[in-house]
Amino acid sequence: MKRTPIARKTPMKATTIRASGKRKASRPKMTPARVNAKGQPCTLQLPGCYPGPDNEQVQLCHLRMFGGGGTGLKPHDAEAIFGCTHCHDLIDGRRHLIPELREQVSFFEHIAWALIRTGRLQREAGVSIWKGEK
Ligand SMILES: [Zn+2]
Repeated sequence: MKRTPIARKTPMKATTIRASGKRKASRPKMTPARVNAKGQPCTLQLPGCYPGPDNEQVQLCHLRMFGGGGTGLKPHDAEAIFGCTHCHDLIDGRRHLIPELREQVSFFEHIAWALIRTGRLQREAGVSIWKGEK
């Protein structure tokens, strides 16, 4: 049986190779806000918080629960907080609190405070600058 090839109606989708010939990076690896996060205090401070000596385990934790991201996309760096590995795992659902603590801890209250503390620290460090601010 002879088959006729299926004719393509639309052209092949463009690849991510730019005109310069270089391949587009999948994501920005280190932004100023992410570099600045290392060594900062954990602003979440959930039960069991352990930022490590010299806050070495602290990184910028993007808050996905408020939208702003998507599959393979992180929310903007402004929608992130400084969190240690432990607290980061808790808010991302990789780790869980014991049921007795889960009832006592208000995650959204911790996140609200963490956003305020992170914003203050980033403005002090000059990572985040508001319009009109020097
Ligand atoms: Zn922590």
